[in-house]
Amino acid sequence: MALTIGAIVFLFGLAFLVYYGYTVGVRRGANPGDGNLLKCSLCLKELSRSQLIERQVGDSRLLYFCETCIRSLQKELEATTRS
Ligand SMILES: [Zn+2]
Repeated sequence: MALTIGAIVFLFGLAFLVYYGYTVGVRRGANPGDGNLLKCSLCLKELSRSQLIERQVGDSRLLYFCETCIRSLQKELEATTRS
């Protein structure tokens, strides 16, 4: 009998843990921006991972560039190479 009660308590504990993990997961899913923000290496604006272009420099350093910076770099390049 004690074993059965122990098993039931264990099952309830397990169900609670699964439910708790699920709600935390759902809450995280509803707010995907948090913790996923990265800074543009040039203008330091914080943007989500999908809005940045990633480039590896050397062995481990990663640089991120936003669309605005890339476009201004492109303009600058066009201006310099044209003359
Ligand atoms: Zn930028």
